[in-house]
Amino acid sequence: MSLLIKNARLRDQDQLHDILIEKDRIEQIAPHIDAPEVEVIDARGNLTTPSLIDPHIHLDKVNILDVVRPNETGTLKEAIEIIWAKKQTYTDEDILTRSEDVVLRALKNGTLNIRTHVDVDTIGGLKPLQGILKLKEKYRGLVDIQIVAFPQEGIIKDPGCEDLLYQAMELGADVIGGMPANEATPDDSRAHVKIIFDIAEKYDCDVDMHVDETDDPFYRTLEMVADETIRRGWHSRVTAGHTCALAAYDDHYAGYVIQKLRQAQIHMITNPVTNLMLQGRNDKQPIRRGITRVKELLEAGLLVSFGQDCVSDTFYPLGSADMLQVANVTAHAAQMSLPDEIKKVYDMITGDAAAVIGLEDYGLKVGNKADLIVLDVATERDAIRLAPARLFVIKNGRIVAQTQTETIFHF
Ligand SMILES: [Zn+2]
Repeated sequence: MSLLIKNARLRDQDQLHDILIEKDRIEQIAPHIDAPEVEVIDARGNLTTPSLIDPHIHLDKVNILDVVRPNETGTLKEAIEIIWAKKQTYTDEDILTRSEDVVLRALKNGTLNIRTHVDVDTIGGLKPLQGILKLKEKYRGLVDIQIVAFPQEGIIKDPGCEDLLYQAMELGADVIGGMPANEATPDDSRAHVKIIFDIAEKYDCDVDMHVDETDDPFYRTLEMVADETIRRGWHSRVTAGHTCALAAYDDHYAGYVIQKLRQAQIHMITNPVTNLMLQGRNDKQPIRRGITRVKELLEAGLLVSFGQDCVSDTFYPLGSADMLQVANVTAHAAQMSLPDEIKKVYDMITGDAAAVIGLEDYGLKVGNKADLIVLDVATERDAIRLAPARLFVIKNGRIVAQTQTETIFHF
């Protein structure tokens, strides 16, 4: 099975290129390729890039908004609490149906790698994991899903959760998660972090925690995570998501923590769509943005990416599983407006995200996996500005989605 993409516009290349794909790999990239008897598609000078990546979402909770009560305060705390009752009645079928809708949208929008957190706690037990494992199996070869076992209700605070986390790893979770700020005291937060690293060592897996998702500067678990990463030698294997409190610290302490993050080579994931909505709810004016120090983290040389995080749930009522829409919001929230900054935003959902979640053979290079998209625009800026149709979505060298749009003006 071969495929030839003609007239592709590659990032940072003036000349158009052809891309020859053999089976699931990129065989050749050149200004003109002749390959008889292969399927040919014409990119017509449109931007052609590696497929998009969503490194942080909660697929077990998506599309739950219509079956629970609204979040009156708009806070993270209430968003978590509302779901407690629903979590007790989860079924595999329910989770599969709600999450499948989002995965199909992601696929259509060219997102072919997703890292999802799934709640592991004594309320829902392992149901969320079991539902998402079914989803992962169903979409194998179309959308690759990594699963993070996520103790959202705390570990010390939720006796029984630690055992469930070990069971989740045995059942097939790929990465161990955490939420150390959701404990009663700093000592308990430290114990939470230690438990997570014990599990990471036992299963030799990466760590991806929700860290200080609050605009309260008194939460300082990011420093605990960095210290433990260094102590365990887990450099470049730990991701910290949200880290909103980093933006609430004074500049001196924030700079100190960023140095530790550098030393530990921690990967950072900001989630502006959700955090613009959830944070700053107790501020009068000015209302803080509530997102982490994106530019300072980038300047420090850290890998930074961002995720959709939520779609139609109690945390965030919108979301279309389109990483270009999330990129648009992120560019606003992080004030990334210069030409190179806008290109960086595109990196953050392609190459940089791939490095964060540890993908191999990713990227538009000979020998790499042929996971590509052709967009209906020519530049990264237009991609983020317009969130255009993904004309072709190619997974493992095969066209898995094709979109055409046509507007008829009547005037
Ligand atoms: Zn999250």
